[in-house]
Amino acid sequence: MTGEPQADCLFCKIVAGDVPATLVRETPTTVAFRDINPQAPTHILVIPRVHHPDAASLAAAEPEIAADVLREAGEVAKEEKLESYRLVFNTGGGAGQTVFHAHAHVLGGRDLQWPPG
Ligand code: IMP
Repeated sequence: MTGEPQADCLFCKIVAGDVPATLVRETPTTVAFRDINPQAPTHILVIPRVHHPDAASLAAAEPEIAADVLREAGEVAKEEKLESYRLVFNTGGGAGQTVFHAHAHVLGGRDLQWPPG
């Protein structure tokens, strides 16, 4: 059921502490940790503790927690002293989503090109 932990979900395992991650912030509803394959000097993922497959599904089902993810992304950027940064929610395999548990990428620490690839 959506919202419930999924046995085969990597990010649910990180939330549960069953897979190690370099945590940077935790709140009652979110966890932020460093991306294992960073695409910028700062590359942090902010995820809800609850399982939803992507950001739009999270926002539709639990809008307060979607807002928590956005707020936490801002806190991460502040803590990392990022003057500019990019927030990315890849949605669907064609857009590069590989983990189907909603997550925000916080990318910064270098010049970022637009449009993205
Ligand atoms: P997506 O491609 O938008 O779904 O983002 C998934 C992200 O999770 C990628 O940037 C991966 O590098 C990252 N990732 C995969 N496994 C781990 C892990 O075990 N710890 C931290 N990040 C991970």
